[in-house]
Amino acid sequence: MAKKYNFYAGPAILPQEVMKKAQEELLDFNGIGLSIMEISHRSKDFEGVINTAEAKIRSLLGVPENFTVMFLQGGASLQFGMIPMNLLKGKKADYVHTGEWAKKAIKEAKLFGTVNVAGSSEDKNFSYVPENLKLTPDAQYVHVTSNETIGGIQWMKFPDTGTVPLIIDMSSDIFSRRIDFKNIGLIYAGAQKNIGPAGVTLVIMRNDLVEACADNLTTMLSYKTHAKEKSLYNTPPCFAIYIIKLVMDWIEGKGGLAAIEKINEQKAQAIYGIIDHSSGYYKGTANVKDRSKMNVTFRLPSEELEEKFINEAKKAGFIGLKGHRSVGGCRASIYNAMGLDGVLALTQFMEKFARDNQ
Ligand SMILES: *Cc1c(COP(=O)(O)O)cnc(C)c1O
Repeated sequence: MAKKYNFYAGPAILPQEVMKKAQEELLDFNGIGLSIMEISHRSKDFEGVINTAEAKIRSLLGVPENFTVMFLQGGASLQFGMIPMNLLKGKKADYVHTGEWAKKAIKEAKLFGTVNVAGSSEDKNFSYVPENLKLTPDAQYVHVTSNETIGGIQWMKFPDTGTVPLIIDMSSDIFSRRIDFKNIGLIYAGAQKNIGPAGVTLVIMRNDLVEACADNLTTMLSYKTHAKEKSLYNTPPCFAIYIIKLVMDWIEGKGGLAAIEKINEQKAQAIYGIIDHSSGYYKGTANVKDRSKMNVTFRLPSEELEEKFINEAKKAGFIGLKGHRSVGGCRASIYNAMGLDGVLALTQFMEKFARDNQ
């Protein structure tokens, strides 16, 4: 099989080393003669996996002691509802409207209280991260989307929300860079972009917010349940958690988040460099200072050329370059597991395509 370069937005590329390790261990985990998929989630062996996954998440991300790490299901999309259901309690929250994902989070929050849109980039088709937010002093929380996977914009620095907890959807850039937990009350991420397969959602929540959650909720939708039961109230997505553990091993092996962040910057620079030096052939859709280091969105001179570009790229082994159906154009998702070599191969293809298709 010829080498494929995977630029899918999600589910997305995982490190080859992780896939190989999972394959090696698939039928016989830890020498027990069984797969991790077919043993009790209350067994010593699985306990080792989930505890190690949590410990590595904590150490790599620098999660403070007073936060709880949870492995939930339902994707980031369930968090759009669970967050206001647990924390809004008929009161006010601030949301920053930066694109398709923020929009979905706002829609759900409106069911549980008053939503103040503290900033929006809707006027320019979500091509930038808004500044000068109109924050509500007595808001329950402020919600932002760290990286808009579809629009290709990313917060380089999160807003200072003072004593109001910041809640961040980090689905498409968690573990791509270091983060400062100073204002943070809760972060969440569906695993399938940067840290594992679909089926598990990582939630990291400050303990005082867990305590403050609404009481009269159905058991599975209450953070209190999962915090108290250490993500083992019911059967968790065992295999997906196991893969996260392997991805954490891989990140450690790369030198941790500082090293990962540096490679991600080089990758983003390489591909934006080609766009910026193409004499307008490739047009980045995002405001330069807000350009995502995970999802590079760009257009070609015509839709016909975009289609040709995507088809020829596919033939050459570059998969998943079609933009999201809601916005069109092209998108190269360059998550952690995409190496600089893959990005450089793509930039060479882009240069040649531009030369051949003027
Ligand atoms: C993919 C994505 C989601 C949706 O995640 P699901 O796990 O499919 O629900 C939400 N937010 C962002 C930023 C995403 O990239």
